[in-house]
Amino acid sequence: MPDAETAGAAPDRPDDLMEKVVGLCKRRGFIFQSAEIYGGFRSTYDYGPLGVNLLRNVKNAWWRSMVQLRDDVVGIDAAILGPPAVWQASGHLANFTDPLVDCLSCHQRWREDKIDGVCPACGGTTFTEPRAFNLMFKTHAGPVEDEGAVAYLRPETAQGMFVNFANVLQTTRKKPPFGIAQVGKSFRNEITPQNFVFRTREFEQMEMEFFVPPDEGTRWFEYWLGERFRWYTDLGIPEAQLRLRHHDPDELSHYSAGTADVEFLFPWGWDELEGIANRTDFDLKAHAAASGERLEYFDQASGERYVPHVIEPAAGATRTMMAFLLAAYAEDEVGGEARTVLRLHPRLAPYQVAVLPLSKKDTLEPVAREVLGMLQPWLMCDYDVTQSIGRRYRRQDEVGTPWCVTVDFDTLEDRAVTVRDRDTTDQVRVPIADLVGHLQARFAASEGAEPAPGS
Ligand code: ATP
Repeated sequence: MPDAETAGAAPDRPDDLMEKVVGLCKRRGFIFQSAEIYGGFRSTYDYGPLGVNLLRNVKNAWWRSMVQLRDDVVGIDAAILGPPAVWQASGHLANFTDPLVDCLSCHQRWREDKIDGVCPACGGTTFTEPRAFNLMFKTHAGPVEDEGAVAYLRPETAQGMFVNFANVLQTTRKKPPFGIAQVGKSFRNEITPQNFVFRTREFEQMEMEFFVPPDEGTRWFEYWLGERFRWYTDLGIPEAQLRLRHHDPDELSHYSAGTADVEFLFPWGWDELEGIANRTDFDLKAHAAASGERLEYFDQASGERYVPHVIEPAAGATRTMMAFLLAAYAEDEVGGEARTVLRLHPRLAPYQVAVLPLSKKDTLEPVAREVLGMLQPWLMCDYDVTQSIGRRYRRQDEVGTPWCVTVDFDTLEDRAVTVRDRDTTDQVRVPIADLVGHLQARFAASEGAEPAPGS
């Protein structure tokens, strides 16, 4: 339940929003419990036909904004398995721990910093002393399970950028300020995974390390706070459901010159979507010292040699997908009938268009398939012939499809189709010959772009 401070920020939310979104995710094939036929595997989830599209769209929207639309950021895709040396140098082996306590009444284990002194299971208030519990998953690479074969699943993608700093510098001829971005899986043996895909042991991250001259750290930190906040609002999360929370000095890691989180108003209150940190030269210096490699930049023009400072926007893809779903969920009425609608941004929606022949009659099928074939190269399309047209519109509204294209018997005469808008339910008649351009113009308009000429 939102508290008094947060209630005003999301006035139209149903009280049981979380249950409704989780139910919708399962019913419509966004997210399934992993290994469900064996009773499920705690805290792991599988992304179904709609979820995989939505998650991919979230990651693509991030990549587009962070890499494609910029000339100062390049991407990499680094290995998930890594040797202990990397995690020794990064500090994860020693410090990537959560304080673990056991409730003395019911013996359940909790993360001390998340329970406010009260056991969420039994209400007990006495606990063991906290122990540092390392969150990394340890495994063995190769057939021998001895110490020499130890490997870790990465708990964050960021170290891939630091250990490849020199490779990227040499191969791209970039110079600071420039960034290296990566999207991929990370693994943390969370003590209390919870809230659906908000905190899981296997999840996806979207991280970027932006390397800058040492005296430009503060300026770029401020810049990335603005850019990252805007990414969420541009993709449709209302500003009232987002905030930037600067860490107090006592929350900061010893090397951080500033950290702020982008927080979203989840049904249980404000919680983190992304951390943006000014990490100074900590990571490059640590890896340089441990590996013996030079991880610095030599500016030929000025003859200056320095270790760049790093600004890191670190976001969760799976967690962010959940925030987009929660923010998009709405219930309204159309023609006196209640409907559920996901008001997802067209860039994120699992399907951008659904092609719907009005009836199952064979006469409509060829032209409906022709329309589908025209749209598929440009937009992710669904094709649905089952049930009444009203039911099919409702089904598309419920999964967030922004536009439905209906092929009816008039289409056979006038070579035009009806385009229905998810949010307004307005319908317009569009000649098939203009359909791709029409939908592309509406897509561009949803990004705030000028309509394409002639559309
Ligand atoms: P928390 O305090 O919630 O454990 P964190 O501050 O340790 O998170 P970071 O290390 O900054 O998280 O990771 C960056 C982002 O990765 C987070 O903002 C979040 O979106 C995502 N993330 C981290 N841990 C998880 C997880 N267990 N499940 C899903 N997403 C996660």
